[in-house]
Amino acid sequence: MGRRKSRRKIRLRPKRTLPKIYQCPRCGAVAVSVAIDKSEKQVYVRCAACGLTGTLEYREYYHPVDYYAKFLDMYEEQVAASEGA
Ligand SMILES: [Zn+2]
Repeated sequence: MGRRKSRRKIRLRPKRTLPKIYQCPRCGAVAVSVAIDKSEKQVYVRCAACGLTGTLEYREYYHPVDYYAKFLDMYEEQVAASEGA
């Protein structure tokens, strides 16, 4: 009776690697990009709007958003440090 549409297996298309852009903690612009340099084992986080940058250690199991989170932490520490001085 009730005909079911046969479930087709959805093939995952290889996603184009879009640059992940995050919000800047300093200027608020969504212009923060995470560039991973595996050969240097460094990760560069940079806001294209205000030029805020951070350099982090590359970790194999990290996702760009993890670096971004670290970047936020670093920035907050800097702000806290400058305010507390
Ligand atoms: Zn910014």
